[in-house]
Amino acid sequence: MGKKITIAIDGFSSCGKSTFAKKIAERLGYLYIDSGAMYRAVTLEFLNWEAFRNNTPDTRMTQQILSGLQVGFSFNEQKKTYETTLNGKVVEDAIRSPRISELVSAVSAIPEVREKMVELQRLMGKDKGVVMDGRDIGTVVFPDAELKIFMTADPAIRAERRYKELQSKGVQASLEEVLNNILERDKLDQTRAISPLRKAEDAIELDNSYMTIDEQMEWAEKLIAARIC
Ligand code: C5P
Repeated sequence: MGKKITIAIDGFSSCGKSTFAKKIAERLGYLYIDSGAMYRAVTLEFLNWEAFRNNTPDTRMTQQILSGLQVGFSFNEQKKTYETTLNGKVVEDAIRSPRISELVSAVSAIPEVREKMVELQRLMGKDKGVVMDGRDIGTVVFPDAELKIFMTADPAIRAERRYKELQSKGVQASLEEVLNNILERDKLDQTRAISPLRKAEDAIELDNSYMTIDEQMEWAEKLIAARIC
């Protein structure tokens, strides 16, 4: 077992970042953190506030919502997987709904939201031995990560994958709606003022449009081996 490192995986929506990051974490015995799930949980909390449903939140309202908020992960022994929690309650399914996907990029662009989540993410990764996926992990959260991967894939292929995933969970959405949401989120994530989605200069790009997860793992093995020895 070599030294513990930090692995940052960023990229566009529905590129398979979570599947890939989870596999790498499993393989190394590292902690896996889905930072997107954290922004989704915050969005779910925003939706609980009547005022948010009717207006764009101002700073006061945002601070009020964020002040008591607790976002985290709990291990489900039966499923052998971590699930996202909001104020102590498991919200893993609720945060994957199309409604949350529609709103999450707007909520993630709020400076106070990012500040709070980045602080939490840094705390979770302070001992290294972590694989975190998101949009700003290699650029903002862990700029010193030993391995940074930036994932991309053809939008039509990404939409197809996400569509199948939603279908398997019984979530209603057309392929066109899924594609539009992916393109919209890509645009919002890339153009927001704070921590926009972009490839860190020292990140290595992976286009997995035509790669299986095993091929992606094989690709990653050499990079990891060179950094943990
Ligand atoms: O990864 P996922 O697609 O679930 O992320 C949902 C949304 O959360 C993204 O579209 C983006 O707006 C936001 N996000 C972010 N920064 C991260 C991770 C996710 O702004 N590090």
